[in-house]
Amino acid sequence: MKLAGKTALVTGAASGIGRGIAECFAREGAAVAIADINHDAAEAVAASINRAGGRAIGIAMDVTQENEVEQGTNSAVEAFGALDILISNAGVQIVNPIVDYAFADWRRMLAIHLDGAFLTTRAALRHMYRDARGGIVIYMGSVHSHEASPLKSAYVTAKHGLLGLARVLAKEGAAHNVRAHVICPGFVRTPLVDKQIPEQARELGISEDEVIRKIMLGNTVDGVFTTVEDIAETALFLSAFPSAALTGQSVTVSHGWHMQ
Ligand code: NAD
Repeated sequence: MKLAGKTALVTGAASGIGRGIAECFAREGAAVAIADINHDAAEAVAASINRAGGRAIGIAMDVTQENEVEQGTNSAVEAFGALDILISNAGVQIVNPIVDYAFADWRRMLAIHLDGAFLTTRAALRHMYRDARGGIVIYMGSVHSHEASPLKSAYVTAKHGLLGLARVLAKEGAAHNVRAHVICPGFVRTPLVDKQIPEQARELGISEDEVIRKIMLGNTVDGVFTTVEDIAETALFLSAFPSAALTGQSVTVSHGWHMQ
């Protein structure tokens, strides 16, 4: 088991990619805190991991709320004794042309993706820096950390911003044995993406099938969706990597949609 004795906190872990990472980490021996704004769903995921022989707890956490992030992170450390890995993954999508983009939606997007990344990082570092124990922080970026698409101004802006935070953390954290990365998935069939298909079809005046074939998979090398398991394997590889030779990196997992 690659993460035996490690503890991880995964935000947005009640669904989709976060859930997949949490389940993978638990199978690899980590104790996992399932942090999500949807507390009931977080508890259900934790219960399912525990039933499968893993170790998990559910934590109610809105990543935009400083107090909830501090308290939730502290309760994970109280339960498990330490925090080795933070996966800052919680996210939403709101699509609209810039000219019609509501300011409230823009602020909400930046708050969840960027305030959330900052607050969870700061809370985690307070534990990781103690006794130079160190740790790994992984942000869930996107191909949209590198590429732009119409209708996604706030998302693309936020996902580009995560690269900056990860690179600063790689430099600041080095002396404390903390490493930072961004994983940049292509399209993964999760509730976040399923919601976008009819929205984009409507907005762009094309069929849902065309949204999938042309917009979502058109630039991949093989027309195939990336999977939750592909992202979980990547998070596992980065989390278990034995040295700081790998830090400050953006790893794109997208069937060749974006090549670095
Ligand atoms: P999802 O909708 O399946 O899961 C997102 C989870 O985040 C949900 O459980 C939701 O309750 C939680 N969440 C939302 N707002 C929150 C908040 N304020 N505080 C705490 N939790 C909150 O979505 P997903 O596709 O698994 O996306 C996870 C991450 O991966 C996001 O950051 C997303 O931008 C990124 N991503 C997804 C794709 C994709 O194609 N699905 C591609 C690239 C990047």
